[in-house]
Amino acid sequence: MGTILEGLAASGLEAIIDQGEARRAEHARDWWARNELLDFQGTPSASPLAVVTPRSTEEVSTVLRCARETRTPVIPYGGGSGVCGAIQGRPDAIVLSTAGLDGLISLDDGDLLATFGAGTNGMAAERRVQEDGLTIGHWPQSIELSTVGGWIATRAAGQFSTGYGNIEEIVHDLVAVLPDGSVVRTRRTPRSAAGPDLRQLFLGSEGTLGVVTEVTFSLRPLPEASRGQAISFPSLEAGIEGTRRLMRAGFRPPVARLYDDMESARNFEGACPDGRHLLLLLHEGPEALVAPALPAVAKLCAEVDGTEHDAAVVDHWLERRNHVPGFRGFMEKGIILDTIEVAAPWSRVAELYHAVVSSLREVEGILIASGHSSHSYRSGTNLYFTFLARPADAADMARTYDECWRRAMEATLACGGGIAHHHGIGRVRRDFLADEIGTEGVETLRAIKRVLDPEGLLNPGALIPGE
Ligand SMILES: Cc1cc2nc3c(=O)[nH]c(=O)nc-3n(C[C@H](O)[C@H](O)[C@H](O)COP(=O)(O)OP(=O)(O)OC[C@H]3O[C@@H](n4cnc5c(N)ncnc54)[C@H](O)[C@@H]3O)c2cc1C
Repeated sequence: MGTILEGLAASGLEAIIDQGEARRAEHARDWWARNELLDFQGTPSASPLAVVTPRSTEEVSTVLRCARETRTPVIPYGGGSGVCGAIQGRPDAIVLSTAGLDGLISLDDGDLLATFGAGTNGMAAERRVQEDGLTIGHWPQSIELSTVGGWIATRAAGQFSTGYGNIEEIVHDLVAVLPDGSVVRTRRTPRSAAGPDLRQLFLGSEGTLGVVTEVTFSLRPLPEASRGQAISFPSLEAGIEGTRRLMRAGFRPPVARLYDDMESARNFEGACPDGRHLLLLLHEGPEALVAPALPAVAKLCAEVDGTEHDAAVVDHWLERRNHVPGFRGFMEKGIILDTIEVAAPWSRVAELYHAVVSSLREVEGILIASGHSSHSYRSGTNLYFTFLARPADAADMARTYDECWRRAMEATLACGGGIAHHHGIGRVRRDFLADEIGTEGVETLRAIKRVLDPEGLLNPGALIPGE
């Protein structure tokens, strides 16, 4: 048995192999802050053996077959924008970049369906359907950095999810290659009762069960009307209650973001009085539905002391919503930071918020511990925490980082919350997965993994504890 690179060359795929040092280093990790910190401190993630960029589902199939024959680990790589350490290089592995699976495959305006290669950049996909007056409606903050296949593999959520749904509600069908090289195609039909939904096998699988090669989205026409609304509340509890009542009453503004008082002041200075908690809403749809929604929402929020403000703050958010300051500048000042998103039923959201923030505040050197909710449902919402800490000794940054994460996970679990709303598990949450889905849940995942990937070659170390 030769090496995987010999196997690929023998299959006529030499052209898709890149062993250049810079390219391998670029694909050694994702955006996980902890690996960025190690990089900054002089111990970067190991580069893979090679970056392999197949150009079709058939070529992905050949790569995975060769990997199995040569027992070579394979790390699927989309845009590399994951934030949980699901991508971490190793010298005996190849990175399978989906960059060669790029572009629109088909668009059907009548059925409102568009199929893209899995490596298509998110913003490029959205721009392409907008040319035809349509939208995917999935707007992760990383839309410019991520791929449509990565959205599936991480079970992503966009900023407009409260109205348009998360990625699992937007994906219509998909094509994926299993670790043995065989190809699974889910059927293009609006709904199916033909057994379990195989799309779910790949949603959130983080590259461990197969490689998604094509994604079909269920589209919407671009909205006729789009209008912002800003309401502030005297307490977080009142804001949570206002948002809960909106969801319960059936309002579905695509954007519904409730910031705590700290984030309201930090992000939207002057937009609402100090100490108040700002709710930003964006209503979209036919004018006949949008126009009456605004006064009705204002009335409902007024019942819990919500006060309306100038909606220009929503435009301000829309303009800046994808701006992300890099971690590096903070690390150079001895500051470690990250965001942590979790979820909870309405009955536990306020308790969970206070438990996480007060636990983070006990960390030595903590500078900021704040949060907002950005994806709401009839039964609950998510909370998206931000922490910044500067330990007295910069050598303690990794330890402080781990402590913040541990505290946030433990407080979330103690309050009955879910540990991951949309960023996934990767390596940062892997040790908490059993607390979320139970040891039986983890065993079920392991059993599926063993059947599909008995040698454990697909993205080893991500998602599944002990793999
Ligand atoms: C600044 C910033 C903002 C972000 N905002 C959001 C947000 O608003 N919402 C959100 O949900 N996430 C957000 N994220 C996280 C990240 O962008 C998402 O997880 C995104 O879906 C990852 O896509 P990607 O193509 O970059 O995947 P990658 O990082 O390349 O990969 C992520 C995981 O999926 C696997 N994978 C990738 N492509 C495939 C494929 N075709 N088949 C099988 N496995 C695959 C990889 O092996 C890895 O395990 C943000 C990240 C950053 C850096």
